[in-house]
Amino acid sequence: MHEMALAESLVELIEEEARKHAAQRVKTVRLAVGALAAVEPKALAFCFDAAARGAAAEGARLDILYSPGKGWCLDCAEEVPLSERGGACPNCANYHVQMTGGDELRLIELEIA
Ligand SMILES: [Zn+2]
Repeated sequence: MHEMALAESLVELIEEEARKHAAQRVKTVRLAVGALAAVEPKALAFCFDAAARGAAAEGARLDILYSPGKGWCLDCAEEVPLSERGGACPNCANYHVQMTGGDELRLIELEIA
């Protein structure tokens, strides 16, 4: 489970941001998670709660915005939806698809109390 490591670095990042803004508490944490990022949102939320204990992010709500996977099919020369890493093109069924999006894990914004 790599969600714990993710949650820990997320809490550190939030801690830094909170210090920058001299904030005591963080109310909401908005995250962009790609469908291909291999992150289980429930596991991440659980780990986040544990990792945030005693930090500015303790008790903060995790707001996860999903972005779909997408890729560029070399055969069709167009952008196609991608349901899995290394998946086939839904148009031509070939595996010549380069992932172009959907693997991000990014902190969008913090709502500070
Ligand atoms: Zn194709």
